Amino acid sequence: MKHVEFFEKLKKDDVAIAGGKGANLGELTQAGIPVPPGFVITSRTYDQFMKETGIFDEIMDILDALDVNNNQKLQQAAREIKKIINETEVPDHIKTIIIEAYNALCLKIDREDAFVAVRSSATAEDLPEASFAGQQDTYLNVKGEDDLIKYVRKCWASLFGARAIFYREENNFDHSKVYIAVVIQEMVDAEKAGVMFTVHPSTGEDKILIEAAWGLGEAVVSGTVTPDTIWVDKETGEILDYQVSEKNIMFQKDPEQGRTVKIPVPDEIKKKKVLSEVEIAELTELGRKIQEHYNFPQDTEWAVESGKVFMLQSRPVTTLGKIATEAGTEETETERIIITKGLGASPGMASGNVKIIKDTDELDKIQNGDILVTVMTTPDMVPAMKRADGIITDEGGVTCHAAIVSRELGIPCVVGTGDATKILKENSVVTLDGNKGLVYEGKIIEESTEKEKEAVQTTVVQQSPLTVTEVKVNVSMPEAAKKASQTGADGVGLLRTEHMMLTTGVHPKKFIREGNEDELIKVLVENILKVADTFYPKPVWYRTLDAPTDEFKSLKGGEDEPYEHNPMLGWRGIRRELDEPEILKAEFKAIKKLHEQGYTNIGIMLPLVQHPDELKQAKKIAREVGLKPQKNIEFGIMVETPAAALVIEDFIREGLDFVSFGTNDLTQYTLAIDRNNENVANLYTEKHPAVLKLIERVIVECNKAGVKTSICGQAGSMPTIVEKLVELGITSVSANTDAVATVREVVARVEKKLLLKAARKIMQE
Ligand code: PEP
Ligand code: MG
Repeated sequence: MKHVEFFEKLKKDDVAIAGGKGANLGELTQAGIPVPPGFVITSRTYDQFMKETGIFDEIMDILDALDVNNNQKLQQAAREIKKIINETEVPDHIKTIIIEAYNALCLKIDREDAFVAVRSSATAEDLPEASFAGQQDTYLNVKGEDDLIKYVRKCWASLFGARAIFYREENNFDHSKVYIAVVIQEMVDAEKAGVMFTVHPSTGEDKILIEAAWGLGEAVVSGTVTPDTIWVDKETGEILDYQVSEKNIMFQKDPEQGRTVKIPVPDEIKKKKVLSEVEIAELTELGRKIQEHYNFPQDTEWAVESGKVFMLQSRPVTTLGKIATEAGTEETETERIIITKGLGASPGMASGNVKIIKDTDELDKIQNGDILVTVMTTPDMVPAMKRADGIITDEGGVTCHAAIVSRELGIPCVVGTGDATKILKENSVVTLDGNKGLVYEGKIIEESTEKEKEAVQTTVVQQSPLTVTEVKVNVSMPEAAKKASQTGADGVGLLRTEHMMLTTGVHPKKFIREGNEDELIKVLVENILKVADTFYPKPVWYRTLDAPTDEFKSLKGGEDEPYEHNPMLGWRGIRRELDEPEILKAEFKAIKKLHEQGYTNIGIMLPLVQHPDELKQAKKIAREVGLKPQKNIEFGIMVETPAAALVIEDFIREGLDFVSFGTNDLTQYTLAIDRNNENVANLYTEKHPAVLKLIERVIVECNKAGVKTSICGQAGSMPTIVEKLVELGITSVSANTDAVATVREVVARVEKKLLLKAARKIMQE
């Protein structure tokens, strides 16, 4: 077996060498289907890496001792194994082979240092039956030799994700006999992309289902957007139905750095049809051809670049064996009331008690036979999903996590209802129809088709409040990250450090003074990890230490804190950290460590900045520890002083990715009101025009320069202020956990109002 093999040499039977994905891409290439060119790093290479470096036995020992039903231990083991793999040097002879193949690919497509997709391709004997979809990682827009090796290793490590380990145990796959191959493929710079099933994935009917959204296909596959849904008659090619949805978000390659970035969809195309009739016809034709070639219905991924359609993946539809017994379900009840509807994602009918899961801590309440209702399922919900008789989600399309897993578990599932967690009542009895995507009140036994049709027509489908302005959440205690993430926030707009330090009982300075920098870094890594992991891949902005001298006095080592007449105006925030750079360095080193473990979702935010030199010096220190501000890590400041707001142009010139308004401090410094002094508390208000003027000028200047703006002070949880900020064009708003839902509604309402206003203006002109 070779170490690498180009697609042209691979066939569908080569799963053991190239994994399911790699073998299929080879098969498609050989069948004349347009597939972006590439090669596969075979399972042999992975095997050799594991055995030659000696890490194989170490990893198997960890797995032998593991109880996968203990979620915490499972997560911990997965992390440990990934770390071992990611930190093990790839032997030189293996590196050379991979790099030579990459160079050959670059030559073939005539692009130097070409951008490629690096995708794991799992090999398991009965892979086509037990779908591993989504369990291994894919890295887009990878370029250059160093990154290539790094991400190949990450793909190898992805074989040991918690979810993958759990699945293998459940399906009795031997961990030591599951190998992984890695597909390296020219990156398609997709303008539009999505998935296509060559039959109805739930009922097996001979209809083609296409889901389409703008940008890279990640948006559809990950369930980030509700895509356009198109049904096509496979025989005649007639478009039976085209449901256009509002697509607010898209993924794209950042033209400068090549990273995949999530951006708002331009207003003019949000509600536009993604696919033209010609493109639908072309996809339908490819779908027919692929199914014919495999002689079995296929579940595919596609992309369109410069008007050219590419197929990126094809695998058998995994649900069809079950359909024969389920499709003929007779319904006998005379009257049905539809409570909500979504997409039928896994066939069959199920009745049971509704159990709404808002937090993974609540999973125990799912008993055998219940209906699990949640916004979107996550890997750690799988054990509870198995106990449930049916699954209903607010979000997602037919390829989201809930859909894939429930299909594989054979549990009826309806996804993308938009509102199930809000309108279904805890413990009420409902029936869901996983074929039609309907949720009925009560236990349904029988019903006439006529009545059902009427009911369908009278149902009002509510849209989920997706917003272009991101709504994030503030986290001060890492142990509360889970709860914060359950709000569905788009990331963490402020991760405060102070609580992490307070829990150690020791002043950070003491760690440094006593030569225990490593211990300080460990505390930081552990705490930041909890948040970065919970929210991954959503961004988490870590705010460096902002410890007023009076607040840290009670800690061991805090006795030495100087007495200050006015600590609020004193030695705190970035000014102090630049005076004591060892603490700042320790924080940056902790982030660097996490970054190397793949937590590139962490950004850095500096508090209490008042002069661009402070930003400059902090960036220099970050570079000294190996971080690359604005290149490989988001770097920004809090706007908490009138000075920063008034010279924001100078900060922009110095260079930063984002600013975030710390209105708690900005208000006190603008109004000269100590935020902790109850004697002047009656005068303290973020709504003072002076505060709002400062905010406005910063948003205007930042918008001109393409710098992101956010807010993380208490004002970000106040509807009237949020309204104004959205009108001014703020990029994101970070609220307290309890306010996220309200803030999201406010944001959605203002965005709609603005659209309406713009539309009316156009009509008047
Ligand atoms: C602020 O000042 O608004 C802020 C978010 O920071 P802190 O409250 O931690 O000072
Ligand atoms: Mg502050």
